Amino acid sequence: MENRSKTLAEFKAEALARLKTRKSPRGNSSEEPTVDDVAVEIMGLNISDDVKIVEIEDSSYISRGPTGFATDEDMATKHKCWWDAMHTEKPRRVGVIHERLESSLEENKDRVVRVQGRNDSTALREDILRFHSSSHLESLKKASELPRSDMQAFAKKYDSVYFDEDTYDMAIRAVDLTTSLMDKIINGNLQNGMAVIRPPGHHAMPEEFNGFCFLNNVAIAAKRALEVHGMSKVLVVDFDVHHGQGIQRGFYSDPRVLYFSTHRYERGKFWPELRESDYDCIGDGTGKGFNINFPFDDVGATDADMLTVWQRILLPIAYEFNPDLVLISAGYDAAFGCAEGCMRFTPALYAHLVKPLMGLAGGKVAVILEGGYCLESLAESALQTFNTLLGITCPRLPDLDVKACSSKTKDMIKRCWSVLKPHWVCLSWVPEDILPKLENFGLEPSAPFPAESDPYEMHDLNTNEKLGWILKRMKFQGEKFARKRRKPQHGWKSVAVVYDPVMMSHSPGDKHHPERPERISASWERLEELEAPSRCLLLKSRMITDEEILLCHDQTHLLNMRDIGARVKNDPDFEDKLHVKSLYVCDETNSAAKIAAGSCLEVLEAVLNDITETGFAIVRPPGHHAEPHEPYGFCFYNNVAIMAKFALEVYGLSRILILDWDVHHGNGIQRMFESDPRVLYMSLHRFGARFFPVGPEGNYDQVGKDIGLGFNVNIPWNADGCRKKFSVPDYMAAFFHVVLPIAYEFDPELVLISAGFDALDRDPVEEKICLIPGVFAHLTHLLSTLADGRVVMALEGGYRVDGVAESVARCITTLLGDRPPRLGPGLCPDWGLNPRTATALRSVAGAQKNYWKNVDVHLPRIFLLCGLVDFELFLLLLKEICLIPGVFAHLTHLLSTLADGRVVMALEGGYRVDGVAESVARCITTLLGDRQPRLGPGLCPDWGLNPRTATALRSVAGVHKNYWKNVDVHLPRVSDQK
Ligand SMILES: [Zn+2]
Ligand SMILES: [Zn+2]
Repeated sequence: MENRSKTLAEFKAEALARLKTRKSPRGNSSEEPTVDDVAVEIMGLNISDDVKIVEIEDSSYISRGPTGFATDEDMATKHKCWWDAMHTEKPRRVGVIHERLESSLEENKDRVVRVQGRNDSTALREDILRFHSSSHLESLKKASELPRSDMQAFAKKYDSVYFDEDTYDMAIRAVDLTTSLMDKIINGNLQNGMAVIRPPGHHAMPEEFNGFCFLNNVAIAAKRALEVHGMSKVLVVDFDVHHGQGIQRGFYSDPRVLYFSTHRYERGKFWPELRESDYDCIGDGTGKGFNINFPFDDVGATDADMLTVWQRILLPIAYEFNPDLVLISAGYDAAFGCAEGCMRFTPALYAHLVKPLMGLAGGKVAVILEGGYCLESLAESALQTFNTLLGITCPRLPDLDVKACSSKTKDMIKRCWSVLKPHWVCLSWVPEDILPKLENFGLEPSAPFPAESDPYEMHDLNTNEKLGWILKRMKFQGEKFARKRRKPQHGWKSVAVVYDPVMMSHSPGDKHHPERPERISASWERLEELEAPSRCLLLKSRMITDEEILLCHDQTHLLNMRDIGARVKNDPDFEDKLHVKSLYVCDETNSAAKIAAGSCLEVLEAVLNDITETGFAIVRPPGHHAEPHEPYGFCFYNNVAIMAKFALEVYGLSRILILDWDVHHGNGIQRMFESDPRVLYMSLHRFGARFFPVGPEGNYDQVGKDIGLGFNVNIPWNADGCRKKFSVPDYMAAFFHVVLPIAYEFDPELVLISAGFDALDRDPVEEKICLIPGVFAHLTHLLSTLADGRVVMALEGGYRVDGVAESVARCITTLLGDRPPRLGPGLCPDWGLNPRTATALRSVAGAQKNYWKNVDVHLPRIFLLCGLVDFELFLLLLKEICLIPGVFAHLTHLLSTLADGRVVMALEGGYRVDGVAESVARCITTLLGDRQPRLGPGLCPDWGLNPRTATALRSVAGVHKNYWKNVDVHLPRVSDQK
């Protein structure tokens, strides 16, 4: 026992000593053994020819820095429309944001830095002239100096602007604050930040004032980032409800700036009524593909619409673009209650839009205020944005469970895909057959827009009342989060970690076994190197009780485990049996397994009791293969499943998401919850004829059973016979197109992650998947927007010890709010989408589309047999169908026994004219009561049952058996399947 509970350092020392006494393989006994030699010695793992895993990616760790807040009190009083007191772009907009942010600024004052302007007029002028002409700047100055009698007339020359004496000064200060904030973020003094400024900027063009805008704050900042800071890629995201045509024009042929805008458009009827705001305006020259417009053709878009656009278009492309900096043109006029937008985005949505963008560019995100005219929703939305930048939990989106992404939005996504697909690898998998023929959509470039437009539609009467509810809910949630953070006396620690070297006592006699003790000690040592433990709430381990084990396992399993170590010693046959199930045991196995499971519950309870927010259990043996009645595949007690059951039974939770990214399918978890709609199990895993755990359970068509239908989602990477490995882009695609859409709709109260790291490149048990540790930071980051941030992770597999340690560190530092490493082409081996990914994602979506509203975007409108047959195959089958006219007489006859005989028939297809005529005649004469022709072998070509018929009928019956009592006769009973 003592011998087995060594730390990795001790193992290393021992190995080093052994190596030194041995004759050097190079014949030079004085040569120091290399790190790799030591690794080979202790792990029996030949990694000497490997690329060091951390060297191929962005390996720097940077703890989260402060958040900047840039604003100017004068902006809350100055620059106003003196001839129209009701003008919507009023100083009060900034005033209400100041008031709403006050308590957050105070509570988080140790993490907020107030940003001042540079007040350097020469430098500012240079910045402005990189985007605007000098005559433009001059005329702004002159306009502000005009006598009031001339100001109004001057303003009329432009579309929707006003001037007063302070306009020039405020516009300059807005640019100053924007650029200073950005400078500090780029220089690393700040992690991110927000500029609450006005006048806004995104409509201002190089030579023209437009739409309340004079100087284009964000465009000027982007130019400065490129030309002064030498950045090569800037992502500008503009979620203002109006199209930021000023920014678009500034960078339309510049591939260094990716401009992405969502805006109300209505086929050009909505302001600024420009053809260039449509989806097919994607840039010019080398900038082609770097301008992305998502035009909403209707009012009333919801959180679900916007999230779908984010997941299906923006995030995949943004990850591929891999920007150096993210600038957000944050207009809140699409927020619920804003009469300008008439959209229905709840304030909480903005947290969910901003948070995933914080995974990009090493977290360098600057948010710059643009529009937003409903003061209540403006203030709340700005607060949600600011809190998200600070790392505060994203509140759950309550309306999602009833609202699906609209079909109009889904159609527009397909149009965007069709024009963007040639420019982005991440869209290359999108199936051609769903993309619209472009000539049928859009408008000719020269087509005039209808002049009679009514840009501001009336709100329905319930809008204000509903806004009241939403704000009340936001306030309640915000106070709950704040209370949680205020509670502890020694400072809030948002991440709980449990680790105990005693779990190393479960150890294989055979040093070459991959499930080796150092998997956890190396992880802990890596955390210590990064000084992460002191930032975490460290929990003590504990043993799980028998009652807790019985939540998921049966009595037999419990009893068998008690003496499992002793039995192996006395019974060699038993050891063989265990070996078949990929298990090894020793005297300490049961106690180590009980500590692993118990420690997971410790973390879970700390989270559910609001002592902390998230947690990671560095435990082994792993759990996800353990079945209710027996151990399996290195696993004894199903740690994650037990956590889920505990949360359901003890804490009364009703919706838990288990995400399993171990490279093996978590057969045990699936079995335990496949009939339970309270637990949504999603697994990404390799799948194949001989890949563990062999069997059909891991396939995409396993969607759950009985009332649990739809609550089991398998994403199988079928690597059999495929040369290309599955890599980071495949996992990101699965997240954006399947995992996140379903997870958001499910709206879990808790996220549990079965965190196995055997999908890493060069893991000894797997050779077809090649992830890097950094990707797990991003997957963790993306999932942490769910469930009010309650995420609990537990180590499962992963057998490349250095890779596991690095990955665990990446996940925990991400939970701590540190910046995720950059991820992009070149940072990962075998980058690019696997050709099998399209099939995999399409099959999963086909199997799940009846249960989840937003997974079908990349499916054709009609999808047959749950994805078993694609269109091409279907057409092929059509050619192979060979009926005769007489059969329709019989089908008609059989149907005419129904509905008191009321049968109405209408001609649809049929293109063999003589055959159609004959068939119509057969049907009508049958309705007339004439005798049917005889039907039998020999009367029809290719008589006999098709071998596909069994599958077809069985699949149909399978899909419908819960709805119709008598279709299941030819299905196995559930008990037969076990
Ligand atoms: Zn706007
Ligand atoms: Zn595994």
